[in-house]
Amino acid sequence: MSLPATQKENLQQIDFGRFSRMTLCHQPTPIEPMVRLSEQLGGPNLFIKRDDCTGLATGGNKTRKLEFLVGDALSQNADMLVTQGAIQSNHVRQTAAAACRAGLKCHALLERRVPDRSPDYEVTGNVFLDKIFGATLEFRPPGLDMNAEGEAATEKLRSEGHRPYFIPGGGSNVTGALGYAVCAQEVVQQSQSQEINFQWLVMATGSTGTQAGLVAGFHALDFDLPVMGVSVRQPREKQVGAVHGLTKKTLELLEAPTIAASKIHVDDGYVGDGYGIPAPSTLEAVSLIARNEGILLDPVYSGKGMAGLIGLVRQGFFKSSDNVLFLHTGGSSALFAYEDTILNHDI
Ligand SMILES: *Cc1c(COP(=O)(O)O)cnc(C)c1O
Repeated sequence: MSLPATQKENLQQIDFGRFSRMTLCHQPTPIEPMVRLSEQLGGPNLFIKRDDCTGLATGGNKTRKLEFLVGDALSQNADMLVTQGAIQSNHVRQTAAAACRAGLKCHALLERRVPDRSPDYEVTGNVFLDKIFGATLEFRPPGLDMNAEGEAATEKLRSEGHRPYFIPGGGSNVTGALGYAVCAQEVVQQSQSQEINFQWLVMATGSTGTQAGLVAGFHALDFDLPVMGVSVRQPREKQVGAVHGLTKKTLELLEAPTIAASKIHVDDGYVGDGYGIPAPSTLEAVSLIARNEGILLDPVYSGKGMAGLIGLVRQGFFKSSDNVLFLHTGGSSALFAYEDTILNHDI
């Protein structure tokens, strides 16, 4: 398979050496073809990048961000990570595990963001794993500015003599986004070594660090691979603005040229009734990928991202000869908090 000049001649590298970093991730994560799913949907050629296999505490996209965030915390002599998320946050679970690896304590604020969940929701899945990793947890009602709550909790802990380091929700600041600029570079290298020329990358987008880091990385490398973020929460315009803002800041940190908002692609057609509430298309995606590929998605993020990919294929968005890469961002631990919803759905 021959590559177009823009992709083939790209031999640049981003130098991440000047950033503090702690190795946490098994990398590169594999890119695998989804042969049976591609057949089932009638093409294009679908591939999956297995960032569910990052190796930290059931894996997921927060591992790459935490390499730089924990690196920064250690360089500042912190003794504790403080963060926030929804009750079934994968980010909190990964942060709690990373803290253990780094010999730090972990304190997390959990927002009761998702309405009408069963009582199990607050004890099983990721919450259960948070407790195994020894994180201390505080709960909050929905609708607060959770990053402001987290910063206030951080200051309180500091006044009590701790040396806390605050990580915003989803690890989505420029430091965390660096982890996905690393992933972009990895995709470029794999595209070259596996001789696959991808036309699109599709992924779930929430707190924006993953999409911003990828887009910044590809842009800094001058690699032409558009990224379609499938929103799990916000309407399109709001998500585009947020992703664009963080992408520009990440490019500044990388000392690379800035980027136009027209390069940020978001589809908000798969959110359903809101964050953390699986839509019928989410549950279909979870079941289709499980039964055709033997891969577990999750009901909050990667299930919606995959529903987006399936929807775009069915709409004829891609050419049948296209190679489309889905980024699996992890999250299957949350499946256990959604047993009823999943089993009651006609899968
Ligand atoms: C956090 C998360 C995402 C979204 O990534 P953001 O960087 O927050 O946009 C996607 N999938 C899973 C499983 C996640 O936990």
